[in-house]
Amino acid sequence: MLEKFKQNQSIAYKIISNTLNNKHYAHAYLIETNNCTEGFDFALTFAKLLLCPNYNNGQTNCQNCMQCQMIDDNNFPELKIIYPDGNWIKKEQLIELQEEFNKKSIIGNKKVYIINKADKLNVNSANTILKFLEEPQEGIIALLITANRYQLLETIISRCQIISLNGQANLLKEKDAFQKIGLLITNTDEEYQEFISDETNFEKVNAILKFINYYEKNHKKVLLYMNDYWFNYFSLKENISWAILIIIYFYKDALNYKINCPVEIFNDYLEEITKIAELNQIDMLINKIKVLNENRNYLDNNANLNLLMDKIIIEMEEGGK
Ligand SMILES: [Zn+2]
Repeated sequence: MLEKFKQNQSIAYKIISNTLNNKHYAHAYLIETNNCTEGFDFALTFAKLLLCPNYNNGQTNCQNCMQCQMIDDNNFPELKIIYPDGNWIKKEQLIELQEEFNKKSIIGNKKVYIINKADKLNVNSANTILKFLEEPQEGIIALLITANRYQLLETIISRCQIISLNGQANLLKEKDAFQKIGLLITNTDEEYQEFISDETNFEKVNAILKFINYYEKNHKKVLLYMNDYWFNYFSLKENISWAILIIIYFYKDALNYKINCPVEIFNDYLEEITKIAELNQIDMLINKIKVLNENRNYLDNNANLNLLMDKIIIEMEEGGK
């Protein structure tokens, strides 16, 4: 059943085959889909092979054993799949998972959980899953799926073996900044097409660049004009989440420029990138990226958006001295 990925996902195919053959399992895998459509299918196949007793005995195309059939019917107790509940994956969902997985396996000696759209972990749920990853239990394997690894906390990424699938995001070089942003913040081709065909999104990306520009020139004074520069465009949590991500990408590119590495996303905004790179020391850029990353994870359901944006500006300024 892994064979169907052999051609399109040859590298990932090899990694999984070797893992299964050697029986050296990591405790957690991060499956980076790069916006390909088969990410979930790939994760589910991997989970099935981990759990199928026949695969362990060398039969690579089982599908027929009790385990395989129960997985197909979505009622195998040792496989749990977590999806976002609304906009976020909630802490309660993960606590429930942990409680269930703390019990002894009923069938076999392995348990697998899949977190689909792991970028939808908020600060509370990310901390909960982190505790789970930090104290791995024998026989429990986590598969996290996300469009690209940069959407996740560094602390989570570092606990996972990354399996990067071939997808659209690998075509980054052929696209302009707006299209690249679309690829980075969406999860499927459908979402991507929707994003880039909506002109208001283009305006929003430009508004973000204007905001950065105004902030970089005027520093804390921007706090007086947050409605004009920010909340006129971004008033919903979901929008703010990706808007902050775009600022992070922008500063990362300014940092790239500063340290003579290739600009990755904003190639067609080189003038803006150069200007910001000149206004900031390397450690100032690193601090700004850190502040944005940390605060983006506070965007859960209770966040006060005005306070959060103020906090970001103040913390970015404090690090700049
Ligand atoms: Zn089987």
